[in-house]
Amino acid sequence: MYLVSAKEMLQEAERGRYAVGHFNLNNMESVRAFLLAAQETHTPIILGVSGGTAKYMGGYRTITDMVQDFMHYLDINVPVALHVDHGKYEEALAAIEQGFSSVMFDGSSYPIEENIAKTKEVVRLAHAKGISVEAEVGGIGGEEDGKISMGECADPAQCEQMASLGIDFLAAGIGNIHGKYPADWKGLNFSLLGEIKRRTGDMPLVLHGGSCIPDDQIRKAISLGVGKINVNTECQMAFTEAVRKYIEEGRDLTSKGFAPRALLAGGLDATKAMCIKKMTLFGCLGKA
Ligand SMILES: [Zn+2]
Repeated sequence: MYLVSAKEMLQEAERGRYAVGHFNLNNMESVRAFLLAAQETHTPIILGVSGGTAKYMGGYRTITDMVQDFMHYLDINVPVALHVDHGKYEEALAAIEQGFSSVMFDGSSYPIEENIAKTKEVVRLAHAKGISVEAEVGGIGGEEDGKISMGECADPAQCEQMASLGIDFLAAGIGNIHGKYPADWKGLNFSLLGEIKRRTGDMPLVLHGGSCIPDDQIRKAISLGVGKINVNTECQMAFTEAVRKYIEEGRDLTSKGFAPRALLAGGLDATKAMCIKKMTLFGCLGKA
């Protein structure tokens, strides 16, 4: 099966009141872990690629080919979307050229007029090829230079304006942040989420920073219209914890325990298990 746009899977999620998981790729092991998790549980999945991952893994074309070839090799027949995460304008255009099936253009650092103009152009180029588009209004907070900022809250009027541009799904800050959440985090702003949903109709909404948010808040966000949830940090932590355990147990010092495939095998399994755990929470398990 070939890569698909994320539009249909998210429209189905919106109608069915569940959310599809977006899981960030970081290395080859994560490609394998997420594809196997989706296939074994008959679940649609979105694979996210940040600018940093694109540089590390050889650029968009390399990643497209790797994911597509893995899908053939592993006999994957559930819907898989390959999606740019927080793409700069040039990154979104490059990914559209290089085989991605979905792109996020994050113009939140521009004045709203420029964000809108550039989003329109990304929509035009992406839709001509059947590629889905995510746009963002308002920034998503997170850790920068060791300081964790509180999540920003999007302006509902700007969300309505952005949703009217023909995009396929919309990321809007409701107090969510990337990375680990600080102890004094105030939680998601559900009244704001309700207001954004009221103004954007059946547009699937995206929750970034989906790691480490309490389960009850995730379920409530889904019930209020969130149809896509991005997870990265928790999968990375699961991977690294398993590799650390392997080394702490001294297994790298036994027989052929130094082999990189053996070293990383536990990390791959832990990533896959975390992915399935999140799919279960999001309600998308078995929806392929
Ligand atoms: Zn994000």
